[in-house]
Amino acid sequence: MRLINTITDRVTRSVNWLITSGCKQVYDEDANRKIIVINLFAMVGMSITFALGISAMIDNDRVLGIVLLSSSALFGLCKALLLHSKVLYNHVLAPFILVVSLAGLMLYLVITGGVANTGPLWIYVLPPVAMFFAGVVYGVITVAVFITLCSYILFAADGWFVVAHYTTEFKLRLLYSFATVTFLSAFYEHSRQTSFNIVKDLSDKFEKQAQQDMLTRLPNRRGIQQFIEFESARARRQKKPLTLILCDIDRFKRVNDQYGHDGGDVVLKHVSDLFKASIREQDGVARWGGEEFLFVLPDTEESNAVVLAEKVRETLATSPVELQQKKVVITASFGVAQIDFEQGLDKALTLADKALYKAKEKGRNKVLSASSLARL
Ligand code: GH3
Ligand code: MG
Ligand code: MG
Repeated sequence: MRLINTITDRVTRSVNWLITSGCKQVYDEDANRKIIVINLFAMVGMSITFALGISAMIDNDRVLGIVLLSSSALFGLCKALLLHSKVLYNHVLAPFILVVSLAGLMLYLVITGGVANTGPLWIYVLPPVAMFFAGVVYGVITVAVFITLCSYILFAADGWFVVAHYTTEFKLRLLYSFATVTFLSAFYEHSRQTSFNIVKDLSDKFEKQAQQDMLTRLPNRRGIQQFIEFESARARRQKKPLTLILCDIDRFKRVNDQYGHDGGDVVLKHVSDLFKASIREQDGVARWGGEEFLFVLPDTEESNAVVLAEKVRETLATSPVELQQKKVVITASFGVAQIDFEQGLDKALTLADKALYKAKEKGRNKVLSASSLARL
C-alpha cells in the first residue's frame, strides 16, 4: 500500500512538473494557463507527429516521414525550452516555434496531400491554436499569411509545385471553410480575452476593496498586514529600526452620542485625512479597528516616533472639526513601541497597546512609549 502511494505520489509530481514547466509566479494567471496549454500541445504534438512519422517511414514515404519527425523534434524543442527557465523569453519563443512549425507542417500536408489526399483536413487546427497562443492580432496575421500562401500554392502554383490533386470545388470550399473557422476562432479568442480582462479587473477591484476601509480610504487591518511584513523583513535584513504607533480617538462614544453616527463618521474621516497628511512617504497608516489607527514607521527609532506622534497629537488637538455648525475639538491618545525582532511583531503591538492604555489612564490626549512604561 505504501509503495503504491509513493509511486502515485511520484507520478503525480512528475506529471505536474511536465505540465507546469515554464510557469512563473510573476506571470499573470492567463499567461501561466497558456504555458500549461503549450506544454500539453507540445507533448501531444510531439507524440502524434512522432508516431505518424515512424508509420510513414515504415510505409517507405521518406519525405513525409522526415517532415513529420522534424515537426516532432520542433515540438520537442518547445517543450525543452519551457523546461529551461534560464532561456530568456522562453514563454514567447516556445509558442512562436510551435505556431510556425504547425503552419509549416500544414502547408506541407496541403502541397503533398498527406496520406491519400487527407492532409488538408488538419489545417483547421491552426486558427484556434494561433489565436490562443499569439492573441487575436498576431493570430489573424499568421493565419492570413497562411491563407495567402495556401491560395497561391493551390491555384497559382498548381501543376508545377503541388503534388496532390484537388478539384477546384474542393480547393474553394477548403479555403471558404478555413476562413470561416478563422473568423470564429478570432471572435471566440476576442470574447475570451475580453471576459478574462473584465473578470481580472473585477477581482483586482474586490481585492483592493477587501484591503481598504471604505469610509476613511485608509488600508484596513488586512491591507496594512502586507506592508508590515514587507517592512519587517527589510528592517531585519538591513538591521534598521521599525516602530509602531497605536492611536485611539478619545471619548469617541460621546461624539457618537452627541452628533449621531454620521457625526462620528465625519470625525473618523477628518482624523484619517489629518493622519495621512502628517506621515512621510515611506510610512504607513491604517484603520486598525473602530476608532483605532496604526502607524508603521520604517527606519525610525522609538524616540523619533514619539516626536512624530507628539506632532500629530498636537495638530489634531488644534484642528477642530465642524459638526452641526459647531467647532468640535477632537483629541487622541498614542502608544509607541519599536519592534524588537527577537520578540516579534505581536509583542510590539501588545507593548504599544499597553502604552496607549496608560496614556488614556493618564488623562488622554497624550503620547506614551513602551520604554517609558518600563520606567514608570
Ligand atoms: P476612550 O477615550 O476610552 O477611547 O473612549 P471611547 O468612547 O473612544 O471608547 P470606546 O473604545 O469604548 O468607544 C469607541 C466607539 O467607537 C464605540 C463605537 O460605537 C464607535 N465606533 C466604532 N466604529 C465606528 C464607526 O465606523 N463609525 C462611528 N460613527 N462610530 C464607530
Ligand atoms: Mg477604542
Ligand atoms: Mg476611543
